[in-house]
Amino acid sequence: VYNFSAGPSMLPLSVLQKAQSELLEYGSSGQSVMEMSHRSSVYDAIIVETEAALRRVLNIPDNYKVGFIQGGASTQFAMVPMNLMTTGEADYLVTGQFSGKAAKEAEKFGTVHVVASSKDKNFTYIPDVDAVEYSPNASYIHICENNTIYGTRFTKLPQVDGIPLVADMSSCILSRPTDVSKYGLIYFGVQKNVAPAGMAVAIVREDLLENARTDLARPAMLDYKTLIDARSMYNTPNCWSIYMMGLVLHWIENEVGGLTEMEKRNNAKAQLLYDYLDQSSFFQNPVNKADRSIMNVTFASPSKELDAKFCQEAAEAGLVNLKGHRSVGGMRASIYNAMPLDGVQALVAFMKEFEARNG
Ligand code: PLP
Repeated sequence: VYNFSAGPSMLPLSVLQKAQSELLEYGSSGQSVMEMSHRSSVYDAIIVETEAALRRVLNIPDNYKVGFIQGGASTQFAMVPMNLMTTGEADYLVTGQFSGKAAKEAEKFGTVHVVASSKDKNFTYIPDVDAVEYSPNASYIHICENNTIYGTRFTKLPQVDGIPLVADMSSCILSRPTDVSKYGLIYFGVQKNVAPAGMAVAIVREDLLENARTDLARPAMLDYKTLIDARSMYNTPNCWSIYMMGLVLHWIENEVGGLTEMEKRNNAKAQLLYDYLDQSSFFQNPVNKADRSIMNVTFASPSKELDAKFCQEAAEAGLVNLKGHRSVGGMRASIYNAMPLDGVQALVAFMKEFEARNG
């Protein structure tokens, strides 16, 4: 089937095949990756190469550190203020449920200024980042760069001198080239574009690690510096997810040809779907055109009954997990990196046929 799930989502077929071929024995180690000591030299080579591949693919500058951290992106909602809110204040742009949750979590650790929100229009647009009044005393500015539930994304980043930008990139990381130097910290749950569920990655500018908040006693497991200084092996890491992440990065490097090519593919898929939606008088996409996500595409038919019928018949045709998030309704097609163009073509063909029968 073509799986349009918002996450966990599809992995590239060749990655799954490679993992399958190595499942029982990795190299000539006599062991599966799932059975290895994370302190062994065989596993060490895996984690070192996964980080190196991430650095190559994203072109991460040397003054940024990488951490493989358990607890998903949701734990990052707390870790960011626990470590980075040095002034006791931070700015949050609330453009959906996840940035709302991040702001709520941060309130437990200091003063949160919600300096912009798109809640007034059910998060169907991204506020103008240049019109926002940022707080002079904010420790950082937090955004969720791609809003998985609503199908919006930032195309312009808040950039304020001396105030680091923190971005949740869970549903857009590795979808296109990213200038890491524009951020103080990037984090993402891996379960959409990167690896099987069960881990998040943080890319942190060194000076923010070194000058972390000192007024708060953090559990060691929630301290970026402790985890990163221990090379993400302060405790037993998610060995399997890290290994799979390495395979996905090699796929992007060697089969796709890097992030510029990845972006071209993703743009082509999204364009196909949006072009169809724009000429359809049956399906509607509610999002402000300039803010449309290339990863999550939301749409709805004229009624809830037809939405339900669409999802059911699409599933029968091998197009699964198209139901929209419960807070939005309608449909959502998540077309992450691993979704081939064929999948989107099949979806558009099915939508046309459904429209002809029910329109
Ligand atoms: N942030 C974004 C943008 C997401 O899409 C999600 C999950 O779907 C999360 C955060 C939460 O991630 P996790 O389930 O890894 O905590």
